[in-house]
Amino acid sequence: MNPTFTYQQDQLYIENVALADIARQYGTPCYVYSQAALTQAYREYADALSTRDNLICFAVKSNPNLSILALFAKLGAGFDIVSGGELQRVLAAGGEAGKVVFSGVGKSVAEMRLALEAGIHCFNVESAAELHRLNEVAGSMGKVAPVSFRVNPNVDAKTHPYISTGLKKSKFGVAYDDALALYREASRLPHLKITGIDCHIGSQLTEISPFVAAAEKVIQLVDALAKDGIHLEHIDFGGGLGIRYNEETPPAIADYAAALLQVMDKRKEKLILEPGRVMVGNAGVLLTTVEYLKPGEEKHFAIVDAAMNDLMRPALYDAYHQILPLRRKNIPSMSYEVVGPVCESGDFLGHDREMAVEQGDVLAVMSAGAYGMSMSSNYNTRPRAAEVLVDGSSVKLIREREKVNDLLAAEKIFL
Ligand SMILES: *Cc1c(COP(=O)(O)O)cnc(C)c1O
Repeated sequence: MNPTFTYQQDQLYIENVALADIARQYGTPCYVYSQAALTQAYREYADALSTRDNLICFAVKSNPNLSILALFAKLGAGFDIVSGGELQRVLAAGGEAGKVVFSGVGKSVAEMRLALEAGIHCFNVESAAELHRLNEVAGSMGKVAPVSFRVNPNVDAKTHPYISTGLKKSKFGVAYDDALALYREASRLPHLKITGIDCHIGSQLTEISPFVAAAEKVIQLVDALAKDGIHLEHIDFGGGLGIRYNEETPPAIADYAAALLQVMDKRKEKLILEPGRVMVGNAGVLLTTVEYLKPGEEKHFAIVDAAMNDLMRPALYDAYHQILPLRRKNIPSMSYEVVGPVCESGDFLGHDREMAVEQGDVLAVMSAGAYGMSMSSNYNTRPRAAEVLVDGSSVKLIREREKVNDLLAAEKIFL
């Protein structure tokens, strides 16, 4: 477990604050993040890459709260975005457009215009059709779009199929074997400037070897391009470094970075990385209250007030999150299915969890800082959770709990 979270006199703390106090003040479900843990993850990246020209682009989709983005922006981060909406968030949080890379297979004309207007660092182009659209849009605005191709190195990330993105069958990136021809094509288009190359092979990788394999293939392309007279300013190896949810033993940030630096060796290009999960995942928890304990014939259920709409990862990927009581109690423990109130059998947060809990107790779903709040929905007309940021002893509400009236406001009755 992250040392940010510690038991003190049987109470679970985040930094210097008892999580029970946060649950009491802001209610549950509630996401709580540690500023120290967020800062530390960023610093580990920055320190590991400090020997060379680099840009660390936080992947906004992993946790897009404005305060989180503002924190990373202050620390010097750039951002990896996958929509125009995310660009607006970055700008609203004080991030620099010039440090933004724009990924994604389906960029719309409106999104391209927004990004060109703002002056982003680079478009990570994922198809020939997108390349031509970008050229036209830039031309119509009298601008030149900075371009990188996201190449698909056909490397198996050995992670869950839903978060594996670097195989030939993936919808992401351009085929490795097509890349040279596409760069030549791009070099002939008047409103584009080729600036880089990128890849992103998947998420929650727990080994270094696929990263290195992908990086080596990307470098081979860079060299082939140079022979063709196409010289790149940056090389972007994407994100994907995994975290410890349960028994995983992901590489340390420093070791991962050292392996990539070795592949880069004495090359001059700027190194860009796009970490998401590893920057925020273990910095956050989701607090949830036990509404009922429901004994069953085969299973006992702990029915909690957070559900798949709040934290989708267990339902979507069968993902594991450790679940801890905020107060350790001296009562008999039992094995529970930890489930939410949503009307789906897939609505669970954990299976077979041995816990000593009673109705009304609050639990912390650990490692919920990445792809938690950002994937939440209003399914079952459930307002989204509050978000809180802790810095030492200071506690700040960084997103108010949604109200049902917010959900109804955009709808109209025509009968
Ligand atoms: C999601 C994503 C990332 C971040 O991935 P993590 O596994 O959270 O580090 C980086 N780059 C691209 C293009 C992405 O889609």
